[in-house]
Amino acid sequence: MANKQRCPRCGGNLEVLRSYSHCSGCFYFEDYWNDADTANLQALSEAKEMISYNENENDSKMENAHDDKDCA
Ligand SMILES: [Zn+2]
Repeated sequence: MANKQRCPRCGGNLEVLRSYSHCSGCFYFEDYWNDADTANLQALSEAKEMISYNENENDSKMENAHDDKDCA
């Protein structure tokens, strides 16, 4: 699966995967995607964070509304 190579920065173990390689010793990272794909991935993860944040907001609001009804 993953090839082991020498990290060019610290000489530690560089884990080489299909789309990127990284070193766990110094967090050296290089990816093999072009810039457009990397930007898309970043946008996707940011969108996911925004969606999960909104879901949490909605959940707490719904809980509060429900509590109000029970009290009244
Ligand atoms: Zn390293």
